[in-house]
Amino acid sequence: MERLRKTPALGTGTPDDGGMSGHDPSQELADLTGAGLLRTLKPLDSPAGPRVVRQDRELWNFASNDYLGLAADAELAEAFIEGVRKYGAGSAASRLVCGTLPPHHLLEEALAAAKGAEAALVFTSGFATAVGSMPALAGKDDVLVLDKLCHASLIDGARLSGATIRVFPHNDTAKLARLLEGIRAKQPAARVIVVTESVFSMDGDVCPLREILELKDRHGALLFLDEAHSFGVLGPRGMGLAAELGLQDRVDFQMGTFSKAAGLSGGYLVTSAAWRDLLVNRARSFIYSTAPPPALAHAAMASLERIRSADGEARRSRLREYIARLSPGHPSPVIPVVLGGNEAALEAAARLEARGFLVPAIRYPTVPRGTARLRISLSAAHPHEAVAALCVGMASE
Ligand SMILES: *Cc1c(COP(=O)(O)O)cnc(C)c1O
Repeated sequence: MERLRKTPALGTGTPDDGGMSGHDPSQELADLTGAGLLRTLKPLDSPAGPRVVRQDRELWNFASNDYLGLAADAELAEAFIEGVRKYGAGSAASRLVCGTLPPHHLLEEALAAAKGAEAALVFTSGFATAVGSMPALAGKDDVLVLDKLCHASLIDGARLSGATIRVFPHNDTAKLARLLEGIRAKQPAARVIVVTESVFSMDGDVCPLREILELKDRHGALLFLDEAHSFGVLGPRGMGLAAELGLQDRVDFQMGTFSKAAGLSGGYLVTSAAWRDLLVNRARSFIYSTAPPPALAHAAMASLERIRSADGEARRSRLREYIARLSPGHPSPVIPVVLGGNEAALEAAARLEARGFLVPAIRYPTVPRGTARLRISLSAAHPHEAVAALCVGMASE
């Protein structure tokens, strides 16, 4: 987990330093540089498709989360434009203030139906979904039990909730069982929510969902499952890991995002009608934030249809073929190559870029210290030659 960074209390500038030295970030930036952890924004001079242009060079893009190749898809762009024509550019207010426009509502109905659940609520992003919904679902008398490798948005959502946070080692169901037993022994009546991901964003492995569901049922807990990297990718009609295992009915909260395989942006939570009503009343990132552009919701509906269509199935089957080629037996299109040191990861990424591949180096705090890595993400939009060339490129890494 990311460690909470110690920040000086507000207003600690003293008259001695003119109150100013605490305002200069250059030492923090120098520290980041010294540790090989400085991040800078690099330009991308083309749409984020499978082949991209950076500073006049063409690169095969193995950095995006566009697993189905929908982000630069002409039909999806057309649906977006149609949405703009129909509903205008912006939504003008929170849905609770001005009223809720048809596309948000239609998208939620379509999502709930596709996931075989009662209800869904959409947010401006996956991040906003996590930080808004978790504090709505749990408070100071409750316990959130997180996998150690949970995404930053889940960590921040858990912190914001004020609930007690417990952490179990990544995918370790024996430890999770012991934690839940201990919590129940002390707090028999507390609301306990286990929080994990279906496909982990930086490792590309999957959680042992069936075992986790058994444990949460045995200990009277709920399950919050973030399907960000499996929505569109796994399961029948791309509906995720829980759908793949036929376990959707047993997951209390299915979170996901339209920003990865769906090729757009926006987040969602699928749950019961009653929980959804509570979220409408309590999720602050929903209540106090302007609704996503209606055209985006309109496009998201088109994306959901695409994901569920025969074309979606064909894209998933190509993606599975590519995964098998690069990393036989791996369960997802996110393929990590752990190198350890920050510099080693940065250098490997630079070498690959020089050979025409965009593959990002991922460092702390996105991954634990000492596990810096290359993160290859495959897309159905890659041509066979690109994946073949990457296999050759990686073999000499
Ligand atoms: C990307 C991601 C999110 C955030 O989704 P956005 O729509 O990009 O804000 C949440 N959880 C996981 C696991 C993610 O990988």
